[in-house]
Amino acid sequence: QAKKLGGDRIEPFRPALKTAVSGRLQLESDLRRALERGELFLVYQPIVRLADAQIAGFEALMRWESPKRGLVSPADFVPLAESCDLIVPLGQFALEEAARRLSDWRRLPGAESLTVSVNISSRQLIRQDLLSDVRAVLSRYQLAPGALKLEITESVVMDNPERSAQLLVRLRELGVGLSLDDFGTGYSSLAYLMRFPFDTLKIDQSFLRANNTHPQRPIIVQSIATMAHELGLAVVAEGVETEEDVARLRELKCEYAQSYLFSQPLTAEAVRKRLGDRRNGRRAS
Ligand code: C2E
Ligand code: MG
Ligand code: MG
Ligand code: MG
Repeated sequence: QAKKLGGDRIEPFRPALKTAVSGRLQLESDLRRALERGELFLVYQPIVRLADAQIAGFEALMRWESPKRGLVSPADFVPLAESCDLIVPLGQFALEEAARRLSDWRRLPGAESLTVSVNISSRQLIRQDLLSDVRAVLSRYQLAPGALKLEITESVVMDNPERSAQLLVRLRELGVGLSLDDFGTGYSSLAYLMRFPFDTLKIDQSFLRANNTHPQRPIIVQSIATMAHELGLAVVAEGVETEEDVARLRELKCEYAQSYLFSQPLTAEAVRKRLGDRRNGRRAS
């Protein structure tokens, strides 16, 4: 489905979806069918290493190309899927598809250490079999566990802290990467969140928007990065919008950036092409 959208139109418009109950039920039943009809797909946004501006990996982001509604944003369908447990099969699809693509890309010369990050919702953590799903996918695609990263927000672990802690420890023991997503939007301190075995922290994009004129913004970003590093976490700056901020993040030794400034999310086909271009000495990101 991605192809017929053309090169750059993979960022969805967000027309106000019907909020009436009937509209919601219709959306739910359409989404239920979307998976089996192949209307869901993933796009991949490069995560760029700031030291050398090379692509270190990708975040897999879900898209729904609905014949009826056009391209629907995950901001509209993921919360719905979460509320009716559809997120479980959707999440399994994302894990499977992202791993399958990564194993293909990793065969390209110079791409052996690329990673893929997959977003995980609360319902998926509560399910006993996330661990076995992850194990199965790694073995099916012969991926080193470190090739896969799971992105989890604070609210997801706080929904069920005890159970999350147990599961995350086991995933970490397996060797899978664990990223704390959207950091700074919740209420927990980083000290508290360190009881979960995260190895990476993603600074929420609200702190890196150019229009965020909060006078303390630079110092907040600096404190987050410093504290994360002292706790042994790698740092990803999400949605950084200006070159000035990129320069500052480099000075702060922030390891990675993921934003439109470097690249929009790409279709799997475009990723392959981009990785090939890099090989031929063209600009990577
Ligand atoms: P997220 O995990 O925090 O993903 C980052 C979002 O920021 C993506 O939006 C990405 O396209 C957007 N973004 C990246 N760079 C920039 C930038 O420079 N400027 C701006 N304004 N935005 C930028 P997207 O793809 O619409 O996804 C939104 C959210 O939907 C994700 O936030 C994640 O919470 C959820 N989501 C997406 N795919 C999945 C999935 O497969 N499973 C689950 N559970 N959630 C997903
Ligand atoms: Mg994410
Ligand atoms: Mg995020
Ligand atoms: Mg987010």
